[in-house]
Amino acid sequence: MIDLRTLTIKKAHEHLKNGDFSVTDLVNEYLKVIKEKNNEINAYVEVYSDISEQVKIAEDMFKNGTATLMTGIPVALKDNMLFEGHIASASSHMLENYKATYDSSIVKQLKDQGVVFLGRTNMDEFAMGSSTETSAYGNTKNPLDTSRVPGGSSGGAVASLAMDGALVSLGSDTGGSIRQPAAFCGLVGLKPTYGAVSRFGIISMGSSLDQVGPFGKNVEDAEILFNAINAYDEKDSTSVKKEERIAPLPLKKKIGVPRSFLSGDGIDKEILKNFEESCQKLEKAGYQIVDISLPLIKYSLAVYYIICPAEVSSNLARYDGIRYGLHAEADKLYEVYTKSRGKGFGKEVRRRILLGTYILSYGYYDAYYNTAIKVRNAIKEELKNAFLDVDAIITPTSPLMPFKFGEKLEDPISMYLADLFSVPANIADIPAISIPSGKNNEGLPFSLHIMAPLFREDILFAIGKDFEKQV
Ligand code: GLN
Repeated sequence: MIDLRTLTIKKAHEHLKNGDFSVTDLVNEYLKVIKEKNNEINAYVEVYSDISEQVKIAEDMFKNGTATLMTGIPVALKDNMLFEGHIASASSHMLENYKATYDSSIVKQLKDQGVVFLGRTNMDEFAMGSSTETSAYGNTKNPLDTSRVPGGSSGGAVASLAMDGALVSLGSDTGGSIRQPAAFCGLVGLKPTYGAVSRFGIISMGSSLDQVGPFGKNVEDAEILFNAINAYDEKDSTSVKKEERIAPLPLKKKIGVPRSFLSGDGIDKEILKNFEESCQKLEKAGYQIVDISLPLIKYSLAVYYIICPAEVSSNLARYDGIRYGLHAEADKLYEVYTKSRGKGFGKEVRRRILLGTYILSYGYYDAYYNTAIKVRNAIKEELKNAFLDVDAIITPTSPLMPFKFGEKLEDPISMYLADLFSVPANIADIPAISIPSGKNNEGLPFSLHIMAPLFREDILFAIGKDFEKQV
């Protein structure tokens, strides 16, 4: 028996290296848990059928001395990551039979390191949502409390880990889809700097916002998985070369709290109380906590819900019923489009496409899209200036505790509010991490959200590890 609850990448690697157990043993333990729990939790929409071949490659790497830290590590993918020969559906009927014809760059990088991909995990359809309830494959339950959502959109990826059905997993984050589910399931989730991790072969949502990142049970596992995919990729035109990234500077050990941003309506009081306790813990760990003023950051959510639907509407235009995915028969070409899209896309996806099309339409483009871009630039500037004085900026990750199924689904505005604290990092391209910060008396998790300057993931890991020791 391997104790999966306390297993970390480094521990697993040591055991694999010493021969205490083999990759086969390790993978079988996870498959056993998946078999036991997935029916109820619905974290995975598919467990891959070629796992034994992947295991063989990893075992050979151990035998011939080419194994690295990630070799043989069981990883869960999100259902929007292309893995050659396997279905990637973005949890949408539109793509339910779409088989990837090539590997996404992150899958390729991890394959080269001998990672074992266990399966693809459930998500909000095309990553639009904060609860995984918009998936075409049914709800994923929060393993900490099965009457509640796991967060979203990477709900399956985080639940796979929370139920010990994977050692680490990958999600994508356009406005919070890694950090908010991490917060809801009591795990660590990192959204890297825009341009740090390749987007090639990831099913696009909002191309100027999307980033792939890791989930781990602790900061170190998230850091190791991030390092394994943190690479320049010429196939992604927004990927940033290592030499063009900002060089690390020494830490000031000073962290900013944007006070006025925490005083808005709709933020759970319990969460604010826990946040103050987190600030004290960071002080105990030797950090100076200072109030900072970020008057523009509160506009991030409004800016996001202009830019994101605009990009969604243009990205999803490719699903015309002809080139990809679901095809509905009709007499006229236009009807092929409307029927295929009408059948293939769920309600939330259609809502975003309609919003985006309106935002980008002649006559409104300037009023909405161009204005949002200007405000986005101003927010970037505001955060850049703030980082002249502080190493990092902290808030809670989510303004809401994990909610129950159906509670927010019919009220999109309240669902969108879930992204209040996570969206600014996507708007400003900067890295951000969510770290568990305790539990309430119902056993539901709280989380701390930390943002750092561009390409300074190292700051998030350093503060995160110091914080973990205090919790
Ligand atoms: N919840 C946000 C949305 O629905 C963010 C989603 C994401 O990060 N993919 O847009």
